[in-house]
Amino acid sequence: VWSHVEELPPDAIFLTKTLFNKDPNPAKVNLGIGAYRTEEGNPYILKVVRKVEREILDDVKLDKEYAPICGEPQYVHACQSVIFGKDAPVLKEKRAAGAQSLSGTGALRVLCEFLKVNFANSKVYLSKPTWGNHTKILLKSHLEEGTYRYWNAKGRNLDIDGMLEDLSKARPGDIVLLHACAHNPTGVDPTLDQWKQIASLLKKNKLIPFFDTAYQGFATGDLDRDAAAIRLFEKEGFDFVVSQSFAKNMGLYSERAGCATVVSQDPKLVSACQSQLEAVIRPMYSNPPRYGAEIVKRVISSPENFKLWKEEMTYMSGRIIKMRQLLRQHLEALKTPGTWNHITDQIGMFSFTGLTGIKINTSSFFFNTASQVDVMISKHHIYMLKNGRISMAGVTTKNVEYLARAMDDVVKN
Ligand code: PMP
Repeated sequence: VWSHVEELPPDAIFLTKTLFNKDPNPAKVNLGIGAYRTEEGNPYILKVVRKVEREILDDVKLDKEYAPICGEPQYVHACQSVIFGKDAPVLKEKRAAGAQSLSGTGALRVLCEFLKVNFANSKVYLSKPTWGNHTKILLKSHLEEGTYRYWNAKGRNLDIDGMLEDLSKARPGDIVLLHACAHNPTGVDPTLDQWKQIASLLKKNKLIPFFDTAYQGFATGDLDRDAAAIRLFEKEGFDFVVSQSFAKNMGLYSERAGCATVVSQDPKLVSACQSQLEAVIRPMYSNPPRYGAEIVKRVISSPENFKLWKEEMTYMSGRIIKMRQLLRQHLEALKTPGTWNHITDQIGMFSFTGLTGIKINTSSFFFNTASQVDVMISKHHIYMLKNGRISMAGVTTKNVEYLARAMDDVVKN
């Protein structure tokens, strides 16, 4: 019966995890997947999460009934208060529709379905490069993909001119997917001035912003600062959508807690948007899971828990920033050819190292040497993505020197 079913290649990011698990070398390091690790290289459960989990277990009033299709309104409100700020006018004026989602990916998918139904002919512009799943989600939602330049490989920074030029060619009603902070995979974000330029172009050309916020609190350690771009667009009077994830900033990778938000300047249009979100979700998975959302809601809506969360987020992002400094220091001490300031200039969970993943054709022998990334994996047992991205969250004081020496080796040889 299944003889015609074609075997597909495994997902690139999860493949690095499988290969890493199989590797018996004790020096191995996994910098593929974007998940926070402690100094000992272990997964981390936030103390505030453990605290509210105990409360949930003891709460006799909590049953296992279905949650509403779009999740509990109190949960959605809590999520949106993190994005816009507790006292934001958009919330007070009830100008945001929203639905609990299966983490950030689920929010992206639900919003893409919502956009496909209501803007069938719009293109969705993605940054070049972007998180690999963005393209796949658009494809499954039957939305047409456009791209805009983003990464300037030469300067290892933002190609703002290329970005604005490409977006100026989009048609009114087209959608622009923007990483709210800690751009994945480059770790390069626009400055506030550049965000203003982007906002002004989008407004002039009547484009619809689509913010993906998967790292709020991980870029600078400050939830408000990391939401500055979204809040700027809200102030500027856009109608837009936001996909939000608590996988990284609350360490809830497996709980799949997220939120899909549709902001409308006109409060009268919110219930129509809400009904459309519901219509997308009901035949897709019917109702969201309760547990992860209950954790998130209890962390955000208690001032004491919220404070504890922010402290732990500052700690996690601080550790990552420290690892960036150490990695750069080691590379510079080793006199590794090239410049390494981009390691500390970039922010968030990832660093786009500049190591090459494409095999180099050596002209004299017409002979393919292994790429730098191949050697990082096969010789040094350091697992990373083919595009040169490493997760800084997996770097520790114990492996940073080993990482620098491996990078030095592949760059020099
Ligand atoms: N957007 C971006 C840019 C991401 O990097 C990620 C996580 N890798 C997500 C969305 C969604 O992740 P999740 O579904 O685990 O919340």
